[in-house]
Parts: sequence; structure tokens; C-alpha cells
Amino acid sequence: MSDSETSQQYRGEVSMGELLDRYEVLLLDSYGVLIHQHGPLPGALALVGTMNAVDKPYYILTNDASRSPEAASRRYHSLGLAIPPERIITSGSLIAPYFAANGLRGARCIVLGPADSERYVREAGGEVIPASNDAEPDVVTICDESGFPYLETVDAVLTAVFRCLDAGKELHLVLPNPDLIFLRSEHSYGLTAGSIALVLEAAMALRYPDGKHPRFVPLGKPHAPIFEEALRRSGTRSMVMIGDQLSTDIKGARSFGLDSALVPTGLTHIGAGGLGDSYPTYVLPTLVRGR
Ligand SMILES: [Mg+2]
Repeated sequence: MSDSETSQQYRGEVSMGELLDRYEVLLLDSYGVLIHQHGPLPGALALVGTMNAVDKPYYILTNDASRSPEAASRRYHSLGLAIPPERIITSGSLIAPYFAANGLRGARCIVLGPADSERYVREAGGEVIPASNDAEPDVVTICDESGFPYLETVDAVLTAVFRCLDAGKELHLVLPNPDLIFLRSEHSYGLTAGSIALVLEAAMALRYPDGKHPRFVPLGKPHAPIFEEALRRSGTRSMVMIGDQLSTDIKGARSFGLDSALVPTGLTHIGAGGLGDSYPTYVLPTLVRGR
């Protein structure tokens, strides 16, 4: 499929059965597509059951860098979704290829996130060091907003980053999860990893007016690395990304030259005003087949 073929028109509503027939591989976002805060969304259990039964290749693409694929799989199983770890591509699992490509094995790394975030960095060959004012990191990796005392840790990272850059030291800034906000529960929102990176970049822009400070390298949706990993594993571009967010799932798929389907069960409100610039290939009204 060439890029010109996938710089698509909006093709209207589609059914789950049509997507299963048309594409070799399904890429699925998790939150707002398969699950929400109260459990699985309608049709999710049957869809996963069908794909497992007929050996339909699929991958869950999630910006979560706070859980290993094994931990995520256990959580899905507890909700009745039999999704094995090898079907889950987390943004945390992109740290290892990034470290390999940039020669960062053995690098001293500050990691923001819980224990599984640190595990991702160790598995990538990084040496995890504490976030303290006198830390001398080679890499700062912001995986998640949980697992550490927020303000004092962010202040310590800011101090360490300034001291390294003041001394002219090279510093890699890595952002597996570029999401800015998340839905904590109904009508309750939280800032997440991408927002911490945004604040640190604003702080660097204040201190280094020549603009020559490093930037965070994002790995998760809507950026290419997570789609490159899906392509590497699936071996085909006959993939459709099913997601609930225009700014991550749909925009990311479009930029990578893949078709996409927007579901109305998550963060995007599909109103009378249309879908704006990051429109999907399709709207998928429900995961339930035969409707
Ligand atoms: Mg989502």
C-alpha cells in the first residue's frame, strides 16, 4: 500500500466484521476501546475471544510505560480479556530499542515511574540512579506520574538537568508516554508523563535562551516508534488502528501511513461539527459484530 493510497479520504462508518475481513492485522488502543474504568466495553470480550479463536493477528498499542506487558496481560485477564503479553506493545517496551539505537547501554538513568518503569530501563541496559539534586545522569526517562513523590522528584530532576547542561554534559531525554492528561475516573482528570516533560522543556527554554538544550524524544502514540514496532512484529502494512483519540491513535496512524477507525466510546466526542484535520479512515460505531 503506497503512502498516496493511505493519505485517505474519510470513508464513513464501518463494522467490526468488515475490519476483520479487510485487514490482516488489527491494532487496538486499550482505554476507551477495549476497557474503561468500570471494566470491558461492549463487544470487547467477544472480539478478543474471536481473534484468539481464529488466530487473527492483533496488537494492543498502549502509551502506558508503568506496567510490563506481563502485568498488563494479568490485568486484562482479571477483566475477562484473554490477551497474552506478546500481543501487548507498551511504550515502555520501546525503551530497549531506543537505548540500543543510541548506544545507551550502561548509561546512568533517572527514571520517573513505578517499579516496572525502572525494570524497562534496566532491561534496556541502563543503570537506574536516584533522582536527587546531585545526581549526574546520562539519561532522564519520564515514564509515568506515579511511583514517586511528585513535586520533590520533579524539582530534583530539574536541578540535576540544569547542572548537567550548565557543565556542557550531553543528556538524553526520553519520553515513552507522551500523553499530557488521563481520565482518572468519571469527571476526574490527571496530568501524566508528557506534562512533566513539557514543564521541564519550558524550564530549559527559560535558562538556555539560545535554544540549544536537548528535547524529549517521544516514543508512544502519535509518534512513529510504537507503529514501527507494530510493523516489525506483524511484517505487514495491512493494519488498521482502532482508537478513541484523534490526537494520538488516529493522527499517529495517519502519519505512519496506516488506516484508522475511530470509536465513539472514549475521549473523542463525535459531534455535529465534524472531526477536524486528524480525521480517521472510518468511524466504528461499535465493537459488537453483526450490528
Ligand atoms: Mg484511548
